[in-house]
Parts: sequence; C-alpha cells; structure tokens
Amino acid sequence: MAIRILAEDVASQIAAGEVVERPASVVKELLENALDAGASAITILVEQAGRRLIEIADNGMGIAAADLPLAITRHATSKLQSAEDLFHIRSLGFRGEALASIGSVSRMSVISREQSADLGARLLVEGGAGGQVTAIGVPIGTVIRVEELFYNVPARLKFLKSDMTERAQINTLVTRYALAYPHVRIELRQDGKTVLRTNGNGDRREILAQLYGVDVARQMLELTLEEEIQVSGFISPVALTRSNRREITFFVNGRPVQDTALISALMQAYHTLLMVGRFPMAVLFIQMEPEEVDVNVHPAKAEVRFRSPDKVFSAVQRAVRRALLAYSPVPNVATPYWNAPSFQQRRIDPAWEMAGELNKTPSTVATLESTPQPEPQPGLPSGGVPLLRLVGQVGAAYLVAEGPDGLYLIDQHAAHERVLFEKLMRQHDTKVPSQQLLEPVLIVLPPQSALLLEKQMDVLIHFGFDIEPFGPNSYRVRAIPALLSGSDPAAAVRVVIEDFEEDEAPLSNEIEARIIARVCKRAAVKAGKTLTQEEQQALLRDLENCQSPRTCPHGRPTMIHLSVDLLERQFGRRGSR
Ligand code: ADP
Ligand code: MG
Repeated sequence: MAIRILAEDVASQIAAGEVVERPASVVKELLENALDAGASAITILVEQAGRRLIEIADNGMGIAAADLPLAITRHATSKLQSAEDLFHIRSLGFRGEALASIGSVSRMSVISREQSADLGARLLVEGGAGGQVTAIGVPIGTVIRVEELFYNVPARLKFLKSDMTERAQINTLVTRYALAYPHVRIELRQDGKTVLRTNGNGDRREILAQLYGVDVARQMLELTLEEEIQVSGFISPVALTRSNRREITFFVNGRPVQDTALISALMQAYHTLLMVGRFPMAVLFIQMEPEEVDVNVHPAKAEVRFRSPDKVFSAVQRAVRRALLAYSPVPNVATPYWNAPSFQQRRIDPAWEMAGELNKTPSTVATLESTPQPEPQPGLPSGGVPLLRLVGQVGAAYLVAEGPDGLYLIDQHAAHERVLFEKLMRQHDTKVPSQQLLEPVLIVLPPQSALLLEKQMDVLIHFGFDIEPFGPNSYRVRAIPALLSGSDPAAAVRVVIEDFEEDEAPLSNEIEARIIARVCKRAAVKAGKTLTQEEQQALLRDLENCQSPRTCPHGRPTMIHLSVDLLERQFGRRGSR
C-alpha cells in the first residue's frame, strides 16, 4: 500500500485517544483547566459514571468570546508561546489538546464569561465540529459540559470498565486533586449525590478524612521538608499498611505523576520497618523549580522526567525517614492502658497510641488529653535501642530487661525474627548455608505457585534452598536453609512462595525481603520455648545490634517500654494525683 496522510478526522481521533482514555481522563483535563484558570470554586457533575454527562463549572478567569473557537482547536493554548517556555511550565496544561480531543469524541458545550465581559458566550461542539458562538447571560467563569462521551467511538465504549470502576476512578482522581489544592473549594456529585466536598480552607487532613475515613486520617503522619526540593504531605505510620501500592500518590509541582522510582524511594525510607509485602499509604507533594522537571513526556502528562533524579529521591527519603523516626518509637505503655480494667484483652499496638484511638473509650482515658495528631516521643535514640541488662524470661515468651530509662518487655519470637531477618538481608554476596536433606522430598504445586517458584528460583537458591524441577509442576527439594533444619521441607517451600499472587508486580528487592521474612518467621524461636540464660543474653545482644530493633519484619513491635517516669507515677512517687 502506498503511504498516505491520514484524513483529519482519523488523525484527530488517534490523537484524542492518547488524551481521553476514559471518563476520568475528561475529568482530569477539565479540572486542570479550571485550576489553571485560577478558580477558587469548582463543581463537577457526573452522570452514569461519566458516560452520559460530565460537567465542570468554575469561577476562574473565563475565555473571551472571540477565543472560543480557538480554545477547541488542536494545539491552541494560552499557556505556552515558544518552545523555550516548555522548560518553565507553571501551569498544568500546555499542550492545547484537551478541549479539541474531548470535543472530537463527545457532544460538548463550552460556556464562558471573562471578568471584563458583560455577557458570556456559548459554543457547541459535536464530534469535533464547532458551531456558532452565541451570547448568553452567565456568571463569570467557565462551564464545560460533555455529553455522550465516545458516542462516535464505539470501540472506546467497549473498553470502558463497569460503572462502579469508572466512578471510582473519578472519585479517586478528584480527591487527589482536592488534596493537592486544599485552598480551592471542590465539589463532586455523581448521579445527584455529593461524593466529595471540600471547603477551601486549606486543611488537608480534613480532606484525607473524606478519602480514608477519620480514623486513618488521624493516624497519618504529616511531613515537611523545606529545602531546594520541597516535600510535604502525609504518610502512614508503620503499623498502618495496605496490601498494594495503590494508595501511594505523588504530586510534582501540583500534578499527579506515576513514577516507580519515586515509589521505591518511599519504600526504601520505610526500610525494614514495614511488614514484608505490605505497602505504606502516602500522599506526597514535591515542589521544585519548573526547570528541574520535564513534564512533556506523556500525552496525558502522567509521567515526568527529573533533571536530577537522585536529588529528588533522596529528598523524599529524608523527609519520610525523618517523619517515621520522629513518630515511631518503642510503644510506650501509657498510663491508661495500665489502669484499664480491660487491659488483658487489649493488644498493645503502636497504631493504637498514634491514632489517639483511646479517645474512643472515655471511661479509661480520663487522664489522657485528646491528641488530634500523634506527638513525637522524645527520649530514645532514634536508630537503635539502648544497651539493655537482662533480668530474665517470663511466660517462656518474653524477656525482661532494664535500660537507662526503665523496663523493657521483649517478645522473644518477634525479636528473633528481626535478628535473623537482618542477618540474612546482609548476606547479599555469600550464599546462605543450607542443610542437605538425607532423602530429597518431592513436592507438587498448583500451576500458579509452580510459576512463582520458577521465577524466584535464584533467590530461593541464594537463601539456601536446593530445588530442581521434576516433571510438570513437581519439584525435588534437596536442601533447605540451615536455619530451617528440622522443619518439614515441603512446608518450608510452600510457605515461602505462598500468596505472592496477592501483589501484581512486587519490586525485586521486595520479593527477596519477603522470602527472607518468611524463612525467618519459621526459623525464629517460638513463644513457649524456655531459653537458657545464655540464649536470652545472646538474643538481647543481637537485637541491640539490629538496625531496626523495634519491629519484627512484619511490622509488629518487638518490645514494649515501661519508662521510669511511668513506673514512678504508677507507684505514686511523682506527678499523679
Ligand atoms: P491547554 O490546557 O493545554 O492549554 P486545553 O485544550 O485544555 O489546552 O485548553 C485550551 C485553552 O482553552 C486553554 O489554554 C485556555 O486558554 C482555555 N481554557 C480551557 N478551559 C478553560 C477554563 N476552564 N477557564 C479558562 N480558560 C480555559
Ligand atoms: Mg488543558
């Protein structure tokens, strides 16, 4: 076939496809336009998940009547003049494609009035063709109405997901923008019901509460880093996690971006504090000079390129690490727990204290002030634990130790898990010792698990397994990590590969950490085992030498601290009434 230039309508549908993938992309583009127009109030109406109607009204600067036909023309923008400007972009839009694209795949009306104009103007667009501009009396600002999205692109319609999914996409998107622009009043209504309404008072935690509920919002840790690259926003404490990374959002200079490297930077900041296979929640806003970031990478502007990526990642890590260390000490037993009649049934969980959850049980918290936000706990060195003097073992499950500031109760299983975990994580270069089995053991796995096993074979071998294929979905286990000697080899293999499926695409270092954590969990001394004095000592010393001694690899605390201050108050020596 000869080469031909595509007809205009074909070319414009192809171009539109890049920008307008689904109803949520329409909402995104129109919302960005309203924000660029300096609106302080934006109302979004959605009907039938955006298939029937998406309408966005703003009180921004408006479009001149004479400019309306231009606004809906491809590559027409008021935000960019020269190629040079591309490197100093301060607006969200700059491609001049959104209105043209949306107009070519829907029936769209644009109504707008500039501040200086007495009357507004309206332009109807159908399948990309604009009609006459007519005068109309309207308030200052712009209303864009998009009806019957993709009515002329049936293929697109078929690719849309269920209404529930499309609606959820829109909700998530609008809420994220609301968080990024807390000074703009934003209202979202779906099928007549208000889904989100912010009051524009700048309070991000209030908006978080609409997104995640009050409890979670209260637990989120706020952070700010005021440097050349500014980082601000919210992260979850280590005890509050998700099974996937969907609740991690980054905004760079006010635009949401997808960037796996940024996510890795965040994950690394949590280091081994997180339960393996779990992910934090985070909404982080990164601000830098526009020259430092190339936003012209992706048609939907969802990706960016940093001029100095390392600087950006390290800023994120420092900000996150700092917030985590300030807020996540050894769980301190607060007075009310100690007094509470229901003490035995309560799990002492760091999340508890941080959440101010105690506020919910007024009978036991008479002495506790309401804390809307967790307070950093001073007094403990942030990295490790102080040197501890062993006192003994209680209940064949806990070690009791004394430190410079009171008493420590240490969970022997959790502590041993942590010690083993860090030891194995350090063995990057040397193969972990294995224990040959006298008789190889045959295991048959479900196909999905077999696939996973093969994918992780290198890691498994490195960590002391010796496994060879033995027919379809069958394997022969010839050795297991020496740490696990004595345990059932088949169970050991199953345990380390089970429920990898949960997560779509774990990063490779996460997989490794997860496998190690599984091995450690199996290998660690169990509660109920009496330890000799020497074993207790050794465990304590090893724990002191850990980098993150306060949590097990699954994020649970390894120790509880009863401070001297608390003891004194409990015994009526000081302070209490
Ligand atoms: P871009 O945002 O990349 O410039 P768009 O196609 O989204 O391209 O919009 C084209 C132009 O229309 C914008 O540059 C702006 O001048 C104008 N415009 C669009 N939406 C609005 C709005 N809500 N308020 C004011 N002007 C708008
Ligand atoms: Mg735009």
